[in-house]
Amino acid sequence: MMYEFRVSEMAEEFGVHRNTIRNWIAAGTLPAKEGPGRKYLMKFHDYQTLCEKFGREPHIRPDSHVDLATVKSMEAKAEQMMPMELDGHHSELAVDPSWADACMTCGTCASACPIAGVDGLDPRKIVRMAVLGMDKELVDSQWPWKCTMCGKCEVSCPANIQITALMRKLRGSRERDKVPGPIHKGVAMCLERGNNLGIPKDDFVFLCQDLGEELAADSCPGFVTPIDVHGSRVLVTINSKEPFAEPDDMKFWWKIFHAAGESWTIPSENWEGVNWGLFSGDDAAMKVVVGRIVENMRRLNCKILLLPE
Ligand code: SF4
Ligand code: SF4
Repeated sequence: MMYEFRVSEMAEEFGVHRNTIRNWIAAGTLPAKEGPGRKYLMKFHDYQTLCEKFGREPHIRPDSHVDLATVKSMEAKAEQMMPMELDGHHSELAVDPSWADACMTCGTCASACPIAGVDGLDPRKIVRMAVLGMDKELVDSQWPWKCTMCGKCEVSCPANIQITALMRKLRGSRERDKVPGPIHKGVAMCLERGNNLGIPKDDFVFLCQDLGEELAADSCPGFVTPIDVHGSRVLVTINSKEPFAEPDDMKFWWKIFHAAGESWTIPSENWEGVNWGLFSGDDAAMKVVVGRIVENMRRLNCKILLLPE
């Protein structure tokens, strides 16, 4: 059963520009082929699937299809050339179908976005592509990784579309070995060794004690780095790049704690405070890292958690 339509009709029905419909057809997102009389033909089933994606009822009945006997040659050609069905484009992005109607393409999100235009990033476009099921194009793009996850687009959106959740889902949908930069390697390292850079426990403890002795000698008499001190008020986590490359930076915090007479401690294990599972959209890893910090809070009976970022 085939459905016959004009581009202008389809554009009006789905609330998009006529060129958008033409682009969908050209890209194969809308599996339709030219029919007679400047009309297009698509399988009725695909039309229904498109309606489902947009969360709307088909405006025509199945019996309004074209009698293929009248367009036999065209039908054969159309079937032969029919691109991938919409069924092949099931979205894995948990996009709410109502977004298709809710998004007014007002562009407020793009106006609020501090990096709109960088490599063509436009949150409005990303939302529109997501509701069209263009998962692969989005997941393969650099946009989710350029996005700072600042949330300004979402806060400004009059339709309350969860753009940052979409961005994070896009990050999480990319194959892990294709995650840009060192982020995924850091996640794997953190799961294996307790911090993103794989610093061994003994080296870390030795470094902290050594820095503490320097501090005591330089400016904080009596200072001892508090490692695993049970009952401390504040649990301090660390960005692993500090002990790895800029250890003296940690002393700035420590001086303040010392001057304030604060009760604080650093755990000897699982002290990483930068959760790259969060950044990379890896929920499972993120939960493990968070769980370790919670366990340290319980083990050392701390009341306040300090994260470096
Ligand atoms: S602000 Fe919201 S409604 Fe407007 S274009 Fe962006 S996502 Fe759509
Ligand atoms: S969350 Fe990303 S897309 Fe939204 S405003 Fe911030 S940088 Fe732009």
